Amino acid sequence: MARPKTSLADRVASRSHREDTHLIWDGPTYRGKPHLHNFGNPARVLLNLVDQPRISIKTECHDPRCIEPKHWRVIIERDHKYLDIPKPIWRDPRDDTAAQFTDQELEEIDYYVQEGTTTEDELKAAGCYSAEFIAEVLTRITARATASTKA
Ligand SMILES: [Zn+2]
Repeated sequence: MARPKTSLADRVASRSHREDTHLIWDGPTYRGKPHLHNFGNPARVLLNLVDQPRISIKTECHDPRCIEPKHWRVIIERDHKYLDIPKPIWRDPRDDTAAQFTDQELEEIDYYVQEGTTTEDELKAAGCYSAEFIAEVLTRITARATASTKA
């Protein structure tokens, strides 16, 4: 069944408005939180998470009506009971660089980033990866190292 992606995003857009960097929800709420009938939090629609029950989101914005995707933290749940279940594949719509890679490539990028110690030479030795692929892995490893130093 074809999913009416644009009309769903349109529904969210028509019920929200910009306030500075925030996207304020004008539609109905449930328990004080923005709520779109049948879909739950409209921020999930904007984050491409409608079919991702194992990925949850948490607001990082002071305004409870805000559904701006960049003001939400995305949490990919770890399944402690069934560790063999692969991590859900999700394309972050906020990430412009991800658009140039296939799902398979993003999975491989994620793998090398988790390793954390991969060098350019090791990536080349592992296969014929493109310069863009190698650059992306190294950029993410550096970003990760910087983030963990700050924490
Ligand atoms: Zn906000």
